[in-house]
Amino acid sequence: MSYFRPTIAAMTGYVPGEQPKPGTEIIKLNTNENPYPPSPKAMEVLRHLDSEWLRRYPDPLAREFCNAVSEALGVPSDWVIVGNGSDELLNVLVRACGEGRDRTVVYPTPTYVLYRTLSAMQPAEKVEIPYPVDFNLPINDLIAANGAITFIASPNSPSGHSVPLDDLRQLASHLSGVLAIDEAYVDFAEYSALPLVREFENVIVLRTLSKGYSLAGLRLGFAIANPTLLEGLFKVKDSYNIDAIATLVGAAAMRDQAYKNACADKVKGSRAKLTVDLKKLGFTIGDSHGNFVLATPLSNQAEHLYIALKQQGILVRYFNQPRLDDKLRITVGNEQQNQMLIEALVSLNN
Ligand SMILES: *Cc1c(COP(=O)(O)O)cnc(C)c1O
Repeated sequence: MSYFRPTIAAMTGYVPGEQPKPGTEIIKLNTNENPYPPSPKAMEVLRHLDSEWLRRYPDPLAREFCNAVSEALGVPSDWVIVGNGSDELLNVLVRACGEGRDRTVVYPTPTYVLYRTLSAMQPAEKVEIPYPVDFNLPINDLIAANGAITFIASPNSPSGHSVPLDDLRQLASHLSGVLAIDEAYVDFAEYSALPLVREFENVIVLRTLSKGYSLAGLRLGFAIANPTLLEGLFKVKDSYNIDAIATLVGAAAMRDQAYKNACADKVKGSRAKLTVDLKKLGFTIGDSHGNFVLATPLSNQAEHLYIALKQQGILVRYFNQPRLDDKLRITVGNEQQNQMLIEALVSLNN
């Protein structure tokens, strides 16, 4: 007998981007981390943590953090659920809503691969609907699939496109299940789907502090939805999923919107410059609303470039799968990192 359920034995685990040891001399443009440090106010809170906070169990609802979200985003604090990274909340959503053939997990592809992994683990049948080449949302097919849960990442990774709010509205109004809008990259985008949570009881918007707030190592994400929808999710999450450090440091980062916005503005400026520079080298690139670009090099050399850059100490993301295997996803770094990437690409072309 196998140690594992057949579902687990048969599935492929999620493969995260490579994480070199801190301090390794490497230009890391493969997992969409923010090149700037976290808010100085958040670091100040971290340095002055009271030992009492560590001796005791943390608040199961991380209310201090919920209050900070409420102040920053203008949503009631009981419309917020907090997760150990937004990945945990994606997991909680699939566990709470998906099951077998009758309660499917639906999403347009290519997108965040974790949706597939979580469906396989549950197990809940997945329905993958390919985006057309122009990345318009395949609304009719998504409505027809009528998932127990439908995931839409906006801005999407790795394509970088944002989904128009009217498309999301139309989808939400026709689905009887949950519409989960994954806004991991919203801090670099032009608009958010947050207003939809007030319009539709079945809409939940997921956010993370990993990208916009430079806190990927802290593991903190949150989601906003009508309390009716959150009720089922609270039953599924671990009681003490958010540690005391993350609750307090995250709250300080959330209250420092000015710092987060200033860093995001720098990233957006660099994204524009990087796009121009890559185009000059012959790459094809669509508009990105995240902190990364999806770039197609000339003549099918994506995998070759990925390996060659890695040999020079520059990590980018290569997805060996249909529709992406001719492309590289490159995180927008700081000006110096982007410049070194461009110089490496120039030298590889010669
Ligand atoms: C990075 C990312 C997440 C996960 O964020 P964490 O809060 O670090 O777990 C979720 N969804 C998408 C699309 C992402 O790119």
